[in-house]
Amino acid sequence: MKSLRLKKNEERRIKQGHLWIFSNEIDTKITPLQGFEAGEVVIVESANAKAIGVAYINPQTLICARIFSRNIKTKFNQMFLKKRIQLALELRKLNFNKPFYRLVFGDSDGLPGLVIDRFGEVFVAQINTAGMEKLKAEITQTIENLFHPQALVYRNDTTSRELEGLQQYEEVAIGSLPEEVLIEENGAKFIVPVQNGQKTGWFYDHRLARARLQSLVKNKRVLDVFSYLGGWGIEAAVAGASEVVCVDSSALALDGVDKNAALNSVEDKVTTIEGNAFDALKMLIVEVQKFDIVIIDPPAFVKRKKDIKSGTDAYRRINELALRLVEYGGILVSASCSYHMSRDNLLNQVQLASRHVDRSVQLFDQAHQAPDHPIHPAIAETEYIKTLFFRVNKPW
Ligand code: SAH
Repeated sequence: MKSLRLKKNEERRIKQGHLWIFSNEIDTKITPLQGFEAGEVVIVESANAKAIGVAYINPQTLICARIFSRNIKTKFNQMFLKKRIQLALELRKLNFNKPFYRLVFGDSDGLPGLVIDRFGEVFVAQINTAGMEKLKAEITQTIENLFHPQALVYRNDTTSRELEGLQQYEEVAIGSLPEEVLIEENGAKFIVPVQNGQKTGWFYDHRLARARLQSLVKNKRVLDVFSYLGGWGIEAAVAGASEVVCVDSSALALDGVDKNAALNSVEDKVTTIEGNAFDALKMLIVEVQKFDIVIIDPPAFVKRKKDIKSGTDAYRRINELALRLVEYGGILVSASCSYHMSRDNLLNQVQLASRHVDRSVQLFDQAHQAPDHPIHPAIAETEYIKTLFFRVNKPW
């Protein structure tokens, strides 16, 4: 196995627990990057030539190597995968009694570059790096051996694959993929489109926040903005909300809302508005509509660091529109899944928005990403969800 030599002092962060090695941290005089092939396994050495871990490398990317073990005897093979997936499974079993969860969450589960969502007996995987792509056959075999699933599909269509020099494709590797699968969350059932859905098909990361919402909704009128299949809205309806309006720009998503409302026998309470959320909220304001609870759970407005300014602005604008639709004494639930949008910045944007529309807000609770999205304490990027619960009042 080849070695990858770090520059002086660059081992410090790695020794403290981080798993990523950036290309500018490598001593390229001793180990030139052109000597490596994308996805190759290497021994990582500190500047004094001491081995500190094993990683896979991609000489073309900014995150140049990802450590998968500190024990340099660890082989990047099926046995390794099996052990890590079993560990990941144990954490899920500890937290959930039904097989609906993110089974593998990348670095946080010691499997950099791999995400697997489980929908009962159907598994949807995403491989994001050249190193992990090399283990694809072993991933398939391990999932087969551990779960004997009805289907395993690779939704390897993320844009991040391009940076890794990988093709984007979708492939059914085990069984045949049903068009839809059935899951349960917080007492509601959902039909999830695993073939044409967003990302892997369902956003498990907000499960705890949606459960918190359920405790607040009895007899309330609820607006679920960027609803997708109605994760928040339908769970609110099931928990006793009197009326739910879901807004999304995707007709496919709103078809899903209708189907899922019927599936949970709440179709009488749930309606949808198709369109750009900013325009739809403006229209509701013109109609002088009011809601007891408004949920804002948008797609990531800040995908890359350089979008912080425009993204921050978008969070402020959408929350401002939402605040205008909340009854005095009502609730705004404001979420962000952008890692680069800090919790403090989101809080600040809601505060700015509230001043602009002359409301006062009280932050009374905050929710976290669900336990099937564990946080790696050394890798800040693994903590990305923030959900803020505000009461909205007349100006004080
Ligand atoms: N709240 C959802 C997840 C949101 S995913 C849940 O809990 O499952 C983002 C959703 O926003 C997608 O369904 C997408 O179709 C929708 N979307 C993206 N941009 C939009 C826009 N400008 N206006 C309305 N919907 C939008």
